[in-house]
Amino acid sequence: MADHTLAAQVMQRIETLASFSEEPDRLTRRYGTDALREAYAVLEGWMQAAGMTTRRDNLGNRIGRYEAAQPGAKTLLLGSHVDSVRDAGKYDGPLGVLIALAAVERLHASGKRLPFAIEVVAFADEEGLRFSSSFLCSKAVAGSFEPAMLRLTDGDGITVADAIRDFGGDPDAIDQDAYDADSLLGYCEVHIEQGPLLESLELPVGIVTAIQCQDRSTVSFSGMAGHAGTVPMNLRHDALCAAAEFVLAVESLGREITGLVATVGQVAALPGASNVIPGRVTLSLDVRHADDAQCRHASALLRERAEVICAAREIALDWQHLHTTPAVQCSPVLMELLAQAVDALGQPVYRLASGAGHDAAILSAITPIAMLFVRCKGGISHNPAESVTDADVGVALDVLSRSLELLAEKGAAL
Ligand SMILES: [Zn+2]
Repeated sequence: MADHTLAAQVMQRIETLASFSEEPDRLTRRYGTDALREAYAVLEGWMQAAGMTTRRDNLGNRIGRYEAAQPGAKTLLLGSHVDSVRDAGKYDGPLGVLIALAAVERLHASGKRLPFAIEVVAFADEEGLRFSSSFLCSKAVAGSFEPAMLRLTDGDGITVADAIRDFGGDPDAIDQDAYDADSLLGYCEVHIEQGPLLESLELPVGIVTAIQCQDRSTVSFSGMAGHAGTVPMNLRHDALCAAAEFVLAVESLGREITGLVATVGQVAALPGASNVIPGRVTLSLDVRHADDAQCRHASALLRERAEVICAAREIALDWQHLHTTPAVQCSPVLMELLAQAVDALGQPVYRLASGAGHDAAILSAITPIAMLFVRCKGGISHNPAESVTDADVGVALDVLSRSLELLAEKGAAL
């Protein structure tokens, strides 16, 4: 099938998958729902039409396998997720599955087999909307699914274990679904960028270098609540003014350090009345950088800054560090293949870090990973306004196809 026809088919299939929703007027597709079941039924048909055998694991992940030229060869994993957030866009997840599927379809149409097998994995839970979990399904594939996760419950009190049973799997057999790391060549995921960088640079695709380190803390400022009319300005210990100074310090450090993003996304001021000086403020701090040390360093600098602000204002500071998720580096070998493919297509090679988490980060525990980002309009995602162009989908598909050929050419080096 010609390139533009395959890209157009990906776009049509995006629309088809988007029609499977739990809600009539917007796209919401949580783990284990009928909407996800219906999406999988259609997807399996497409996989089979592209010359793949299909199977499911206990979590319900759908896997299409395109055999290698020779039996006993290793397997390259491609894919992304098909669950969604509430009131989602159409492309976050499904685009990566459908471009992978189109790349296999192209091989199948030309009767080509590669020196490695390809498995396209469509993960059933990445967003974690139903159980406030994260990466349940890629954890099963990577062998890092913890039994305690089975006891998480959704808004209706249904446990993960029951949802897995209801979805046709056996929660006691999840450890059998983990891939043997020795059988894998790597995992490559195509995904919308979910940020505005590629659009600002007028580039269709970008090669991901790393999935950023994320460091999260809860910071509380305790001053003295008081009457807004009777306490003079020079005698106040206003917790919100200290917090405001800190928020601006977060922004300025984020601008100062290259590659750093730092965000205060939640602020709660107590007692929260228009005529009362705020006595206590609690806020969230999210710091990210592609380099672990830089990320931790930035968080430490901000803590020092908060201490200085609080000392000057006679405010008590309480800093609760929540967690640090280390950065995951993409495979230099796979990144180079993607770069060669981008270059061969006459496109500029651009590398960027991923600010968002992805299934690829979980799979990095068992196999080298790579990601290709596709420009999305306005950098908007997790929103029905998510949008990508046919032309960019065509470029991403060609890059993936060319990368597969390049990987095949490495032949004996595999
Ligand atoms: Zn996603």
